[in-house]
Amino acid sequence: MRIRTKVSILILLSTLAMVVMLAGVSLLSFRSTSLENEREHGEMASELARNELLLSFLAGDYDHEALEKHIRSHIADLHEIRIVRTQATEKQYGKGTHEPNDAEKIALRTGTSNDRMIETAEGVKYQYITPYYAEKTCLQCHDVNEGTLLGLVNIELDLTDQRATALSSTYVLIAAFIVFAILLGYVLRQLLMPIVATATSMRDVVAHAKEGNFSGRMEEGRNDELGQVATQTNHLMDTLEQSFGTIIKEVESMEVHSITTGEGNLLTRTVDSVKTMVGAVRFKQTIEEDRNLGDVYERIFQALTDTFQIKRFSLYEVNHDKQLMKLIYAHGLPEEQMLWCNPEVNVDSSACRACRTAHDVNSEEEENICTSFAGNRICSKDEIHLHHFCIPLMQGGRIGVVLQIIHEDSEAAEIKKKLPFIRTYFSEASPVIESKRLTEVLHASTLKDPMTDLYNRRFLDQFKSRLIASAQRSKKKIGLLMCDVDFFKDTNDTYGHKVGDTVLIGTAKILTKAVRLSDYVIRYGGEEFLVIITDAEEAKTLEIAERIRRTLEENQFSAESSAFNKTLSIGVAIYSDDSDDLDQCIHLADTALYVAKNTGRNQVVRYQEGMLKDEPDSEIQVL
Ligand code: GH3
Ligand code: MG
Ligand code: MG
Repeated sequence: MRIRTKVSILILLSTLAMVVMLAGVSLLSFRSTSLENEREHGEMASELARNELLLSFLAGDYDHEALEKHIRSHIADLHEIRIVRTQATEKQYGKGTHEPNDAEKIALRTGTSNDRMIETAEGVKYQYITPYYAEKTCLQCHDVNEGTLLGLVNIELDLTDQRATALSSTYVLIAAFIVFAILLGYVLRQLLMPIVATATSMRDVVAHAKEGNFSGRMEEGRNDELGQVATQTNHLMDTLEQSFGTIIKEVESMEVHSITTGEGNLLTRTVDSVKTMVGAVRFKQTIEEDRNLGDVYERIFQALTDTFQIKRFSLYEVNHDKQLMKLIYAHGLPEEQMLWCNPEVNVDSSACRACRTAHDVNSEEEENICTSFAGNRICSKDEIHLHHFCIPLMQGGRIGVVLQIIHEDSEAAEIKKKLPFIRTYFSEASPVIESKRLTEVLHASTLKDPMTDLYNRRFLDQFKSRLIASAQRSKKKIGLLMCDVDFFKDTNDTYGHKVGDTVLIGTAKILTKAVRLSDYVIRYGGEEFLVIITDAEEAKTLEIAERIRRTLEENQFSAESSAFNKTLSIGVAIYSDDSDDLDQCIHLADTALYVAKNTGRNQVVRYQEGMLKDEPDSEIQVL
């Protein structure tokens, strides 16, 4: 309810209450003062009546009318006088003028005076009944004992005019009070108007500010507290407009704000945007300090599942050299080993529409927009309909990563709200992913031999400690094969350096193929290779070495016009059977190789104690 209405109701109610109170008080005071006055009149009249009665009895000429006239000459408002006799008096003098009424009967029975106001529609009467008893003088005529009740005098006085006068003065009083109340209401209204106007204006200014609009101002100019309120509020708005307004404009101009959902007011949206930006910047700082790309992807995974609560998604890394997409992770799939997309994208990045077009791909806008999406086929038995939203992320002018978010129809609105925030996180993460990828590619390139695509010795140096730790932890052995192409110099000399290179590449392939993925083939030197067989007993290692030797021996290398075979000499040592120092073991394998060379080549030689140069008498085991 408005203040103005409240005040009007208050004035009206208090006026009404005052009027009722005034009327009540006036009537009560009229009653009590009249009662007081009239009791005196009544006493006087009944005293007069008694005296007159006595005199007239003594004179023996009782005349009721004369009596009434006499009393009226003294008591102006006399209405009626009634003289009632007791049985004792009636016995001596016969029936009187009046038969006793109810009130008189009570007075005769009790023998005491009583008085009362009788208010009727016609008017107000005051009744005063007083009994009289036989006194000494009465005994002159009455045949009774002194003190006997002789009768009573009932005086009725008419107060109707008096009440009318009292009422009219009450009416005047009430009228005066109503006029006063109206005047008071008017004055109060005049006083309240500026307060109400100030409150209304302040309400409007604050309402606009709540929406993020700080341009509203209050009217100033009054020289009182209300004027101060207006001035202070306007100062506050100036400050808010300058500081907050600038922030809002800045945020509005940023991409993060323009892609928010548009729901809520400007202020809340700005606060949300700032929160997201702060969160995204913190996220960026965190991933910048992460150890490697794997950790960064892990953190993105956590942000998607924990922060954004996305149930189904996948992330692909685009490999431009090989034109394929490498799956980093796929989440929420009904079964492991499945993909949200056809596996084709893993071998051909152009099968991914987002990657090919560099545009967002939203199946909600157009069903079946990307033919590679396999979600609905995978989940067909669950009777849910899935949509995909694929966001390609630019890195170094090309698509580096594709994020795919999958959702049901019922989740569409929620995902739509989250998308701008997810996009902000990814935009912040993008340069970090790019630089970490670059670092890893560079690092990998320094650890590999570009010609054979095998690891090099730098890799061995870095990898050695992990290899040893893993072997010690699992209490497993490591087989070391030091391989050297026999008479390789001759190949170069006969067929040329280029053919020599193809022999090295071919040998690398044979070595790689001969071992498991968990084993390592290292180009140790020019035409020297070190094969590391993890988790291998001696017999198994020697078996692999022999298989390699035989495969190479049987392999035909081709030169321009002819084909030729090559052979391999292999020295074998076992960590930690031969030494609990891996470097020493490699050296021992090299020693065995040296022996293999010196004892005929194209053979596998297991290292034996005494093969080292300082043990020249050692027995050589040739397989
Ligand atoms: P042995 O049976 O004693 O091992 O004789 P070998 O000729 O294989 O050994 P040697 O050490 O005398 O010669 C190795 C040759 O390998 C010398 C070098 O020019 C050649 N070589 C080293 N790296 C490469 C390479 O990357 N490509 C080519 N084509 N030749 C290389
Ligand atoms: Mg050689
Ligand atoms: Mg050599």
